[in-house]
Amino acid sequence: MPTSRAVSALRPLPRDAVALRPESLFGGWQARNAAATLPHCVSQLDEYGNLANLRRVTGDSGAEFRGFWFADSDVYKTLEAALWLGDKSGFVAEIGALLEKAQDADGYLDSYYQVDNRDKQWSELHFSHEMYCAGHLFQAAVAAARSDDSAAPQIVGVARKFADLLVRRFGDSPEVDGHPEVETALVELYRVTGHRPYLDLAARFVENRGHGVLGEGRFGPRYFQDHEPLRDTAEVTGHVVRQVYLLAGAVDVAVETGDAALLEAAERLWDSALSSRTYITGGQGSRHRDEAFGDPYELPPDRAYAESCAAIGSFQWAWRLLLATGKAKYADEMERLIHNGIAGSTGLDGATFFYSNPLQLRTGHDGSHEDAPSQRLPWYSCACCPPNLARLMASLDNYAATGDPGGLQLHLYTAGTFRAGGHAVDVRTRYPWDETITVTITEVGPGPWTLALRIPAWCGDARLTVNGEVVAAEAGYVRLTRTWLVGDRVELTLVMLPRLIAAHPRVDAVRGSAAVVRGPIVYCLEHADAPEGVAFEDLELDTSAPLQVSRDPDGLAPVLLKVPLRARPTDTPHLYRPLPAPARATAPVAVTAIPYYLWANREPGPMRVFIPLSER
Ligand SMILES: [Zn+2]
Repeated sequence: MPTSRAVSALRPLPRDAVALRPESLFGGWQARNAAATLPHCVSQLDEYGNLANLRRVTGDSGAEFRGFWFADSDVYKTLEAALWLGDKSGFVAEIGALLEKAQDADGYLDSYYQVDNRDKQWSELHFSHEMYCAGHLFQAAVAAARSDDSAAPQIVGVARKFADLLVRRFGDSPEVDGHPEVETALVELYRVTGHRPYLDLAARFVENRGHGVLGEGRFGPRYFQDHEPLRDTAEVTGHVVRQVYLLAGAVDVAVETGDAALLEAAERLWDSALSSRTYITGGQGSRHRDEAFGDPYELPPDRAYAESCAAIGSFQWAWRLLLATGKAKYADEMERLIHNGIAGSTGLDGATFFYSNPLQLRTGHDGSHEDAPSQRLPWYSCACCPPNLARLMASLDNYAATGDPGGLQLHLYTAGTFRAGGHAVDVRTRYPWDETITVTITEVGPGPWTLALRIPAWCGDARLTVNGEVVAAEAGYVRLTRTWLVGDRVELTLVMLPRLIAAHPRVDAVRGSAAVVRGPIVYCLEHADAPEGVAFEDLELDTSAPLQVSRDPDGLAPVLLKVPLRARPTDTPHLYRPLPAPARATAPVAVTAIPYYLWANREPGPMRVFIPLSER
């Protein structure tokens, strides 16, 4: 095992220590991912030429290179998903053999630069994505190392040979890749190999960035966070996926090297992102042109970019901060992301995906030219998101709990069994539809240990009992330390009254509007539920009437909300008009709101999360 000065508050559980119940929300998502998303991604890699790109390196294909120059990364992400899922379709073995055959003798592997562009290798790092692709290869290798797949040694071998090349080529260099990703991957590879040069190289890449080494590029140095060193930076900026991947890598480096200042910078930047540049779904990025964070409070719902990969990267960043610090706010954010910004990216069929995730779709929307269509698509010319969703969902069971011999910590509530240090618990719940989570102790090690339960910040009324006796529960973690007995029962109720949430007044785009939320789920209005004969955009929220819960086990979701709405017909042809405007709102009618993550699974049409408040 690696020797280091690692500091980390929490420890992930090994793969075999967790089993999610298939009937749970997470278990269902994982099952769909295995049954539909992974096979879909595998077939798309074939159809879109990603595999042929690698086969032309081995001389087994005469086709032209197809897709973006970083198309190999989609192969690696799909490979990682297949490894987490224990896929036995033959895909893992096929790719393992293909990568080994395609790899150059010195370890280099990148199909875009191995046939037509050999003379350009490592010469255009600001946009080449060579190390971004390498990083995804390394992450697949980490999944391989943690699997029992027979191709695992081959995949780890290919990754190490490439990583060793990076150490030789960049170990003393001031250069960095234009797209971060290799940083976190190198640290992960270090964790499974114990090979310190991988960690040192990751640390070097984090430090190299911020000194203008990537030049101006198309959007300036901020685009790739090369305008100032990360540890001196106060605000998140630039391309969101680049920023959040870099920060995930920085936390990994900080944890493994004991670099408190670097960890502090990552926490500071997280506060910056969450205080003024994050949508209520957890999505980030409001600029389409450069896929970037906007200005503070620039969070238009209809122009939300909120790329799926950004939500995934933000989830990975929050997970690393949670492990490093043990602070509940990072698990709160993971919960928000997984139930809203991330879950909404994949269709109910498991084979269609959003690239950008708006919070409002207007009647007559046309966004197909900027990866913002009104329906999920089976694939994209830049297909970074679908296989990224596949690998995250494939590893979702990793993130629900942490533990060590001192105890177990439950972060994301889902039905399943969790084991750590000789202790085990069985969690039964229909969360997030039901409010109650029942934890039964099923195995105990010697002596006292601590069961920690997260009380989400959104919950103002948490009730906890241990074997029927009431225990105080406040936001953060409740820590129950005792000599547990098999059969001991902990019952946590997180009261989920539907509530209206307004954005900070500086979020001008939704001023005077509110979103409807229950528990961790953000709801939305969709055209299919709107009253007949009313223009969707004319609907307003009547705050004088209550929100109601509507349970339907056969509905689109088990819990829907009934929202009191009035219609304010816009009977003027004028785009602008003098105030005061005439008030002719209709009587309120209760309209169904559905979980945001389920929108666009019926016929195409408008949708909105933030609803204007009726002036009455
Ligand atoms: Zn993406």
